[in-house]
Amino acid sequence: MTSQVNSSQQEMLGHPKGLFYLFFAELWERFSFYGMRALLTLYMVNEVFEALATRDIAAAAVYASYGSLVYASTVVGGRISDSILGMRQSVFLGGVLMALGHFVLAIPGNVTFYLALAFIVVGNGFFKPNISTFVGSLYKDGDTRKDSGFTIFYMGINIGGFVAPLLCGWLGREYGWHYGFGLAGVGMLTGLIFFWSGIKKNVFGDKGLPPNNGAYEKRVFGVQQKILVPVLAFLSAPAIAYLLSSYQDIGGGGTFLGEQNIVNLIFKIIGVGILIYLGYIMSKCTPEERKKLIVAVFITLFMTIFWGFHELSGSVITLFAARNVNLVWIDAAQTNALNSMWIIILSIPISLLWGYLSRKNLNPRTPYKFATGLALAGISFYILALSGNSADENGMVPFSYLIVMYFLLSVGELFMSPVGLSKITDLSPKRIVAFMMGVWFLSSAYAFQVVGFIGKQLAIESTDINVSGLATLGTYIGGFDLIAKYALGASVIVFILSPILKRMMGNVH
Ligand code: GLN
Repeated sequence: MTSQVNSSQQEMLGHPKGLFYLFFAELWERFSFYGMRALLTLYMVNEVFEALATRDIAAAAVYASYGSLVYASTVVGGRISDSILGMRQSVFLGGVLMALGHFVLAIPGNVTFYLALAFIVVGNGFFKPNISTFVGSLYKDGDTRKDSGFTIFYMGINIGGFVAPLLCGWLGREYGWHYGFGLAGVGMLTGLIFFWSGIKKNVFGDKGLPPNNGAYEKRVFGVQQKILVPVLAFLSAPAIAYLLSSYQDIGGGGTFLGEQNIVNLIFKIIGVGILIYLGYIMSKCTPEERKKLIVAVFITLFMTIFWGFHELSGSVITLFAARNVNLVWIDAAQTNALNSMWIIILSIPISLLWGYLSRKNLNPRTPYKFATGLALAGISFYILALSGNSADENGMVPFSYLIVMYFLLSVGELFMSPVGLSKITDLSPKRIVAFMMGVWFLSSAYAFQVVGFIGKQLAIESTDINVSGLATLGTYIGGFDLIAKYALGASVIVFILSPILKRMMGNVH
């Protein structure tokens, strides 16, 4: 099929020119997101909760609530974009809120801390889903360049995710945390400038405008919705800040289901609601649609398990790097760059591999790729567990283990995340594809609930802020060993289910 492009759009390097503006906007947005994330756990443990012996537990709980909300908000942001604002306004509003959040984070203080996280939660909700859909909208249905457009975009994400921890981590270490957070804000502003200049140069043609349903100008309580939405988004931040600050347990014991704070509770209720709603939708589907939808739910579930281990990088693994790894060249915050580094190196070879295997008729079906991805996650944690055997007399392990661990985890990510994203669109009935995309993003949100649970299990309780490596090594190694077993167990289950899932997928590869 020949490539098609909307006549009102200009082209560059064989792609719609708008792609390159979205690429740089997302690169800088992820720069701010991952620059801040690299510092977040260390900042909480060393500053916000410094006085608590249970500082790791508190940090794990806030990290989990923040991560859950930052991805769950994308469902709301996507919905409002579809029905009221359109993608341009949504991305712009999200970018402004995120920049605001990062700059507020540059101001020391506990109130500013939670408020800043809340602005990022709301901002990401408007920015992240809509810039991704924006990329898709630049291509007509069936345009063969779309996949490579998304590969280029995923590279942008990871260039931001690679550079930011290095720079923000360095600033945080040399000049103070708040300079690192401030640089994240500068990054987001740069992204906004790229996006704005794309609009000014009219590179998006007629894409991303508000829907043609009058909702944008419509008045509610005497105020036009185009004004009301940003005002409400802004005003929701204090409520979200309150949720984030309610990190203390309000009941329950040490089990995953028993551990409760308000955010955990909200997520459990939403989870049950979604399952009931999906059951209802499935009852209305044709048997063929139902089978595919069941597969879509399964791959979302497997993805949740994978992200649940993967997203430990910003919490437990950063703390492990700080306390137990003999780091060379970089510090603990900067180890957050390793995942994106490997993704940048590996994404093109792996997409070439799928192409090569397809030509030989050997490209594995999606469930097998997912089972392999989970196995790689398991092996990656097993490598970290093995590092304990090479610990020195201070309980410090060689850096090479962390590098190899991130290599394996990143290969696993490339076997699952981009593959799953495209399969969700293929497996969902057209009328609920946007909803299913929201559910897909919720897999990241729920993963943070898993991260919070694991983070609490692997928390080090100590009154000594510079707790010695010997005191922490055993907890981490035991934890990584257990995670490896769970991930490998999940992988075996997916392998066993794969022949059935493969059949249920019908013609979808
Ligand atoms: N690293 C990817 C990104 O930032 C995916 C993250 C996720 O969905 N958990 O876009």
